[in-house]
Amino acid sequence: MTGPATGATAFRGEILHFTGDPALEGPAAVHHHEDGLLVVSNGRVADCGDAQALLPTLAEGTAVVDHRGKWILPGFVDTHVHYSQTDIIASYGEQLLDWLERFTFPAERSFADPQHAREVADFFLAEALKNGTTTAAVFATVHPESVDAFFAAASARNLRMAAGKVLMDRNCPEFLRDTPESGYEDSKALIARWHGTGRLSYAVTPRFAPTSSERQLELAGRLLDDHPGVLLQSHVAENVGEVQWVAELFPWARSYLDVYDRYGMLRRGAVFAHCIHLDDANRRRMAATGAAMSFCATSNLFLGSGLFDLEAARGAGAVVGIGTDVGGGTAFSLLRTLNESYKVLQMRGQRLPAVEGFYLITLGGARALALDAHIGNFERGKEADFVVLDPASTPLRARRSRLAQDCDERLFMLMMLGDDRAVHATYVMGEPIYRA
Ligand SMILES: [Zn+2]
Repeated sequence: MTGPATGATAFRGEILHFTGDPALEGPAAVHHHEDGLLVVSNGRVADCGDAQALLPTLAEGTAVVDHRGKWILPGFVDTHVHYSQTDIIASYGEQLLDWLERFTFPAERSFADPQHAREVADFFLAEALKNGTTTAAVFATVHPESVDAFFAAASARNLRMAAGKVLMDRNCPEFLRDTPESGYEDSKALIARWHGTGRLSYAVTPRFAPTSSERQLELAGRLLDDHPGVLLQSHVAENVGEVQWVAELFPWARSYLDVYDRYGMLRRGAVFAHCIHLDDANRRRMAATGAAMSFCATSNLFLGSGLFDLEAARGAGAVVGIGTDVGGGTAFSLLRTLNESYKVLQMRGQRLPAVEGFYLITLGGARALALDAHIGNFERGKEADFVVLDPASTPLRARRSRLAQDCDERLFMLMMLGDDRAVHATYVMGEPIYRA
């Protein structure tokens, strides 16, 4: 071995990434290089380690981009977000069901217009990248055009993104309603057009159990069976009123989660937002099937939904990622979302160390979306999506960072004070796509 091929680029800075969940596997899962080097060749990770060890191995002529004084982490993964709700972020006063009626459904109506959809998709992706988010599981709307617009925008930027058309055939306004058959056919056509095209994944997207008939849920399960590798995204057990409504609509179900289970939706690559009002049998069922939970702290606080129980999720062995859930969530920033996650867990008497937080928004998120073969850390061969964080992006942060005693303290400062200003640059497949 003579090192990576000529044409490689190396990035020097303080590197942090994970090969496992530090909460379960301990320090062995945490890879920290204070003076680190990330070597990228043909858009993929060629090597990662200590700069002093790796610099002499670089092929002659390899460019070294100097990010010393800054952190280099894998690109952030947002496991639950609605691009179609970008424009209703920070809408006042309601809890889930009224919020949907009053703000969400009217906003989603305009995505029948492909031009509007594309304009919002471009804005949404620019905002995500500005916040260091390089992969997300994204709800479009009921309109197939809204998925075409989003995937076209993601494809133009070569992003690894997942999205899907909302399935919704009841308990919603007529103008947002599909039918079991049209929802199935539209989804099938979108899968054929986009799934596996470049870096894109399709996600079958029943909004939540109350807005789908049993026939529609059955056909959603069939889409998954017929298209291995396609993802699933939905919501479960977000709000107390919603949970009661599901019990009335599906009297045969033991629990809300049981509705999805009946139709074969619990599996690896299925991610369910919120997972607040679950019992331990539900959590163990998710763990056994590989279905993942998306913890959406800013949304859960903003809509008054409840407090996610990370310890119970982990105790049951469930896969967990973090979601911004914009527009119920109030920030595109996964750093700000970690800040609120920390506080939610404090209210439960639980802790969120910074290394665990950064695991959840990188490899944890990639695992939740079953994309960890491609992204999530800096193992050789992974796609080189990464973010460069500046710990001194404001005078307060610079000051607090200087006073920090160790790596954990510096990271915790970033997690609690960080936002889009902390993102110095975002890279996709080794190429800069955003710079502060
Ligand atoms: Zn949501």
